[in-house]
Amino acid sequence: MKAAVYHGKHDLRVEEVADKNITEDEVLIEVRYCGVCGTDIHIFDGDGGSSDVHPPLIPGHEFSGVIAEVGSQVKNLSVGDRVSADPNVMCGKCHYCRNQKEHFCVNNIGIGTTADGGFAEYIVMKASHVFRVPDHLDFISAAMAEPISCCLHGIDLCHIKQGDTVLIIGGGPIGNIMLQLAKNSGASSVILSEPVKEKRELALKLGADAAIDPIKEDLNAFLSNNTQNVDCVIECVGNVHTQEDAVRLAGKGATVMLFGLTGPDKKITIKPDDIFKKELHITSSYINPYAFSRAIQILASGMLDVKSLITTVVPLERITEVFTNPELRKSGKAMIRISE
Ligand SMILES: [Zn+2]
Ligand SMILES: [Zn+2]
Repeated sequence: MKAAVYHGKHDLRVEEVADKNITEDEVLIEVRYCGVCGTDIHIFDGDGGSSDVHPPLIPGHEFSGVIAEVGSQVKNLSVGDRVSADPNVMCGKCHYCRNQKEHFCVNNIGIGTTADGGFAEYIVMKASHVFRVPDHLDFISAAMAEPISCCLHGIDLCHIKQGDTVLIIGGGPIGNIMLQLAKNSGASSVILSEPVKEKRELALKLGADAAIDPIKEDLNAFLSNNTQNVDCVIECVGNVHTQEDAVRLAGKGATVMLFGLTGPDKKITIKPDDIFKKELHITSSYINPYAFSRAIQILASGMLDVKSLITTVVPLERITEVFTNPELRKSGKAMIRISE
């Protein structure tokens, strides 16, 4: 089969690889679409993702497809089912799995990070981590279930209350999903900070109450003049400066969600006095525990506009362009078309 194989820093090649075989509790999925995530870019740049990456590896963890083969012990899925899958495969046996902290599983297999992923014609998955999607949900939207599940875990940890004011830093695909989820959570005002004009325009279309260019406008002054208190800040960039901004711009009693992924050795400077005087809750969100089926329910309901977030669709043959040309990712999310 054809696949995009990561061989090391800045070396991703589309090549012919051996066909995959399944065991009794696995299924073979013919991949339709697979999204390019910030984590994939980090891997390409040699930074790793939420876990260490050992090439050669087929990346891609945000995919949809159709079941092509099922193992002898698989009861819940059939050939022809339209599916998406949770790429974080937990053991179900370790201390964390048995104590409602399965995302910290010590035997976690990350499809697309530690095991072969979805930038390929076929992928092997444990049936337990595969989710059927409804017929009316198109394959591009179904491939968004994974990033939405990660955002759902993040938004759960923000504890947004009806009437809250939420500041979102970064209007990439994640920021623009978070903005919609924050609105759905009852925030009465959601303000986005984003320097790229197209992303600000999209945010306004998706329901942001204001979209500010932090380079040309004074965000601090805007917040002082237009809000009572910033109750929650969600940082979706993963840059040390914007993470420091998140703490600085947070209001009293606010939750600061550092959602953006930084390089493993990056450090930020925070004044403990700021945390004290504002009684901040500074937190982060690690992968997507217990959120995947909710993500599919949300997609199926049409509650979120995910189609508008996808600005580039390219076939597998052209995948390296997405990684080497930031222009293709500048205004939104890139999706790789594997088959129709
Ligand atoms: Zn991802
Ligand atoms: Zn475990």
